[in-house]
Amino acid sequence: MNRRYRKTIIAGNWKMNKTASETKKFAEELKAVMPKAKWCEVVVCVPAVNIQTAIKAFKDMRVSVGAENLFYEKSGAYTGEVSGDMLKDLGVKYVIIGHSERRQYFGETDVTVNKKVHAALEAGLHPIICVGESLEQREMGITMELVALQVKAALSGVSAEKVRKCVIAYEPVWAIGTGKTATAEQAAEVCTLIRTTIRHLYGARIARSVTIQYGGSMKPANAAELLAQPDIDGGLIGGAALKSGEFVDIINAANQE
Ligand code: PEP
Repeated sequence: MNRRYRKTIIAGNWKMNKTASETKKFAEELKAVMPKAKWCEVVVCVPAVNIQTAIKAFKDMRVSVGAENLFYEKSGAYTGEVSGDMLKDLGVKYVIIGHSERRQYFGETDVTVNKKVHAALEAGLHPIICVGESLEQREMGITMELVALQVKAALSGVSAEKVRKCVIAYEPVWAIGTGKTATAEQAAEVCTLIRTTIRHLYGARIARSVTIQYGGSMKPANAAELLAQPDIDGGLIGGAALKSGEFVDIINAANQE
């Protein structure tokens, strides 16, 4: 973390979990244990149907609500899709883009990720852009090239002013939902590479202002070590974000002065 230059952001990704009633219950539980002063921003990204409930439930807790996806067109005949303007109008602040599960199961590519990044920024949302290698790609030794390419593709055509509104989440695919966490060294190496890639594209001042998260089985037991790395400015958290106790332990790990 480096709070002097950029925000620390702890974001939960609920994926396809929790009903609206469970969302309310989680918010009540979190409220009871949430630290009074926060040195990090807390975000909960929920299924689209729970956004309104979440906005209401987290309102007085200074917890921002995020979406897990959006479509890149502004409106039209795209049955089942949700636009950036629709999310913004509800009070959504962040939107996850290019999560590996969407790349794997819903055919998202670097090209659609780039279109969605532009759509999110145009709607006034902060995209949380997910990048990361599979186990095969890590074993082939192409992690650094691949992640740099994903970052460049996602940010293609994004202005320097707008890139400051983006968050990049490094999520090695082999660590998501598997219980296997990247070591702090592995995570730090790739997060530093991401910042270097942004520096080459936009210069040092912009690069140091962008929040870069780590995601992949982050939990209370490993959060502090990961967050101690200078280029890791927070976490994108799946499983552990579904339990208020574990989520708040991670928030507390990021909340050290
Ligand atoms: C995720 O879904 O972005 C994620 C990191 O999941 P988990 O923490 O469960 O590995």
